[in-house]
Amino acid sequence: MADKVDVIIVGAGPAGSAAALVLARKGLDVALLERGHKPGSKNLFGGILFTTVLSELIPEFLDEAPLERHIMRRKFSLLSKDSELNMEFGTEAFNTPPYNHSFSVFRVPFDEWFAGKAEEAGAMVVPSTVAEDVVWDGDKIIGVKMHGGEELHANVVIAADGVNSLLSEKAKLRQPFNGHSMIMAAKMVIGMPREVIESRFCLEKDEGSATQYFGDAVKGLFGGGFLYTNKESLSIGMGCSVHAMGYSKNKPEEILDHMVEHPCIRKILRGGEILEYSGHMIPEYGYDHMPKLYGNGIMVAGDAAGFVDASHYQEGTNLAMYSGVLAAETFLAAHEKGDYSEASLKQYRTKLENSFVLKDMKKFRKLPEFGKNGDRFFKEYPELFTELMKDYFTMSMQSKHEIEKGVIKKFLKKGKPFRFAMDMIKMIRAVR
Ligand SMILES: Cc1cc2nc3c(=O)[nH]c(=O)nc-3n(C[C@H](O)[C@H](O)[C@H](O)COP(=O)(O)OP(=O)(O)OC[C@H]3O[C@@H](n4cnc5c(N)ncnc54)[C@H](O)[C@@H]3O)c2cc1C
Repeated sequence: MADKVDVIIVGAGPAGSAAALVLARKGLDVALLERGHKPGSKNLFGGILFTTVLSELIPEFLDEAPLERHIMRRKFSLLSKDSELNMEFGTEAFNTPPYNHSFSVFRVPFDEWFAGKAEEAGAMVVPSTVAEDVVWDGDKIIGVKMHGGEELHANVVIAADGVNSLLSEKAKLRQPFNGHSMIMAAKMVIGMPREVIESRFCLEKDEGSATQYFGDAVKGLFGGGFLYTNKESLSIGMGCSVHAMGYSKNKPEEILDHMVEHPCIRKILRGGEILEYSGHMIPEYGYDHMPKLYGNGIMVAGDAAGFVDASHYQEGTNLAMYSGVLAAETFLAAHEKGDYSEASLKQYRTKLENSFVLKDMKKFRKLPEFGKNGDRFFKEYPELFTELMKDYFTMSMQSKHEIEKGVIKKFLKKGKPFRFAMDMIKMIRAVR
């Protein structure tokens, strides 16, 4: 006879640990299964941890969590082969608690700390354990089968097993992926003394900055690059759709190597030492192609459900945590009724729809489709606009009036204003 708990949560990432914490605090019997030898050991992200949800779950996190820097400066940068056009925003308002709920972190220490909080609250964290399948009783899911064949049973399974969610597939809640619905990412951590980082990025103490790159940073493909400051290192990486990498015959590591060699980036990284090199996938199904989020005895949370806002906000951690919280709350209501059926767990979707998780997913629902056909935004326009800026600022014996006329003429010729206006409308519609 298999052991039984109230809830099995598969995956000790932000989604799984948030769910485990909420349920354990209510005194429920929770097993949090993690395939890594410790939470976080298999995980990677950019990354900026967004802490709106965390601060509600653990108000003292600022003193306890392994945070790197708070992000008070954000930069968006369009690159062509030899030029850079930026928009930068920094504010002292993000320099005091709660620091705009945005911190650079490393996943290994953070996930271990967060899962540790769930464990302190009474959850049973089981590392080095792979859930390979769900266990069915008729049309109901009643547990998971682990590597080696051992079963663990529960009233409900929460699949928080990340982007390649095996469990949601085994539970027949999702279709196999295609190239358009996945982003391939690669990342380097580059060691650098604290004082060098602070002088290069104009930062003091634990202030941090986040830059997102587009255009030539990723060879003009659908996607972008990022550069985040940690205390004594930089996190630099790229993410492009699998589809775009396929047709352009590029590998993630080739794009990242290209990015770090760009003249505008190379100078920021100079003297740094590569400490880590890793790769991971990011889901980008969008609201219209999410898997089914619940079934008889199962709910799906975080990346497993595709809850990533891949717009310029680039958020995943807070959506993951909140979906974990809402899955836990749905379980609590189902537990009170003793009804773990699909009809009862349907509340999960309603809660998500009423929260920022699905409201944001819905807002950016057209983004994946826009990206597929948005080549001009990633290649042609960055090249054109950096060229126009170069022309505008190039000193010559021409009068400023003639220079301006030349810039406008080039824009009219190369920018094709009608097509550009239509593209802008499409972009605005995609992020509206
Ligand atoms: C390069 C990159 C940059 C990113 N940058 C950002 C950023 O700056 N800000 C942001 O908010 N988000 C960012 N994200 C997205 C963010 O990392 C995810 O949205 C978030 O981690 C999702 O949390 P999760 O708990 O759903 O899944 P995960 O964090 O992937 O956790 C899933 C867990 O499940 C475990 N697991 C998987 N399968 C099994 C199994 N069968 N049995 C047992 N355990 C299993 C895994 O080991 C893992 O610990 C980035 C992602 C990448 C790849």
